[in-house]
Amino acid sequence: MKHAMSFNAMSSGVPYSTNGSAPRCGHVDGLTPVTPLSPGCKACEKQGDGWTALRICLTCGWVACSDDSPHRHAREHYQETDHPLAGAMDPDSSWRWCYVHERKV
Ligand SMILES: [Zn+2]
Ligand SMILES: [Zn+2]
Ligand SMILES: [Zn+2]
Repeated sequence: MKHAMSFNAMSSGVPYSTNGSAPRCGHVDGLTPVTPLSPGCKACEKQGDGWTALRICLTCGWVACSDDSPHRHAREHYQETDHPLAGAMDPDSSWRWCYVHERKV
């Protein structure tokens, strides 16, 4: 009689991802391809500074420097515009960063 209650937890229908923890990021839904608006971080170029890596805003195509860079203009762009997603400029990289969820999506 006792074994009948064992397997109910798996079928509760909770809309979480299969790895169990974080809710999935809905920001990636409905994304359309964007074209980079510039070849580098315009804000850094204005100041005569450099960057470590570039990010492209996946909402509007704005190009800015990454969190590894001294000025973190990509994060600044998110704070000004609420555009939640950034990707790498490298076309071989398919990861995307969600600033709202603070993780790769
Ligand atoms: Zn998100
Ligand atoms: Zn910059
Ligand atoms: Zn943007």
